Amino acid sequence: MTDFQKLIDLDNKYVWHPFTQMQRWLSESDDTGRMIIAGDKFELIDSHGRRFIDGFSSLWCNLHGHRVPQIDEAIRRQLEKISHSTLLGHASEPSALLAEKLVKIAPPGLHKVFYSDSGATAVEIALKMAYQCQFNQGRPNTRKFIALKNSYHGDTIGSISVGGIETFHQIFGPLLFDVTFVDSPNPYHHPEGQNAATTVLQQIDDALTNAPNEYCAIVVEPLVQGAAGILTHPKGFLRGVRELATKHNVLLITDEVATGFARTGKLFACEHESVVPDIMTLGKGLTGGYLPVAATMVTQEIFDVFLGEGTTKTFFHGHTFTGNALGCAAAIASCELIFSSGLLETLDEKTTLIRDKLSQLRDNPNVGDIRQCGMMVGIELVADSETKTPLDPAKLTGTAICKAALKHNIIIRPLGDVVVLMPAPAMDIATLTRLLDGTIEVINDFANDYFNEQFTH
Ligand SMILES: *Cc1c(COP(=O)(O)O)cnc(C)c1O
Repeated sequence: MTDFQKLIDLDNKYVWHPFTQMQRWLSESDDTGRMIIAGDKFELIDSHGRRFIDGFSSLWCNLHGHRVPQIDEAIRRQLEKISHSTLLGHASEPSALLAEKLVKIAPPGLHKVFYSDSGATAVEIALKMAYQCQFNQGRPNTRKFIALKNSYHGDTIGSISVGGIETFHQIFGPLLFDVTFVDSPNPYHHPEGQNAATTVLQQIDDALTNAPNEYCAIVVEPLVQGAAGILTHPKGFLRGVRELATKHNVLLITDEVATGFARTGKLFACEHESVVPDIMTLGKGLTGGYLPVAATMVTQEIFDVFLGEGTTKTFFHGHTFTGNALGCAAAIASCELIFSSGLLETLDEKTTLIRDKLSQLRDNPNVGDIRQCGMMVGIELVADSETKTPLDPAKLTGTAICKAALKHNIIIRPLGDVVVLMPAPAMDIATLTRLLDGTIEVINDFANDYFNEQFTH
């Protein structure tokens, strides 16, 4: 184990971790579950050789588990040919084959694929395309976006401009462009509860009516705002947004970076409401969670607006590794596996199991809300479920609970005081059951301690 201790020392000495207060990170002495050395199906193995259920799909991207033979093999086969060549001025085999596949499985009408490397860049591209789409048609002032409060679309300046999570985005306010934010229609957090959708749709309709020709697009996370704490939307909201976008002739961008590839119980979240967006962003699960590949898919109509002589209408955007061959090979294998394994047909049983098991927490006085969209789950902890009084955020209760989960051999990651479960869609029933039972126990233990006032983080 001495070698691994050396690795942890190196990490502490040199690595700056994302979304992390490094003072806290560096002061923590317990390194259980910290350094992941290997993965095996739905488990992660740390530097002490301990195994943990990967309860967060390695940050919402893993689909089929780790070390999946079909995906490993596809990458190896591609490795024998070439690892990377550029899409600037050239084409490549895996990126062409993957594009065909994506067009086949995406909502009908999305006909062109623009590759990039992360969810944030996929969104950045969508925003720039939406703007330039207007510009190319002689409407440079049609440039505003509508987004939802508490939405998350990635961490680049463009994607945080349409993002609305205060803790993450507030500091950068002066750097961002102008976006109109409407409420999140999540019933638990909106004063109108289940009627929130009507109110929010009205807000969108009003904004578009009051400033015709100013807006180029509406950006939404379809069905559920993930990073905000799994804020689910009432049924029909997405459909309503689609209808308003059409009515006012603005583009609908659906950010399926988190929801895409079976996470919500269907291949894409849009399918639940038979919605076809004008632009759709994909990331996270696209490669089965193996490699950084993202895609922005658009309709033929949008693509055509960029056609022209010379360079006047060209979309000037690209990244060095756009369409990376190893990544695209992994993505093709992952997409094929979704269908060959019958994954989509197994999801009803799993989402029902999750719902049934977690209903045990309904009476827990510290559980304010349990939100679920397919395999995406948020358990919101509060000081008192009757009054919805939040916990003191400074106590970092969500973090403490996820630390406690390590004792049950579970790795999960909270969003504030929302405990998030994001099992890989392919997780087997036995492992899923262990994950749910362990999480329920940890939360119940917390509640007991909380009321005995013994809970110190
Ligand atoms: C994670 C996420 C992103 C950002 O993806 P990255 O690959 O981390 O840049 C964008 N949109 C949504 C909805 C996400 O959940």
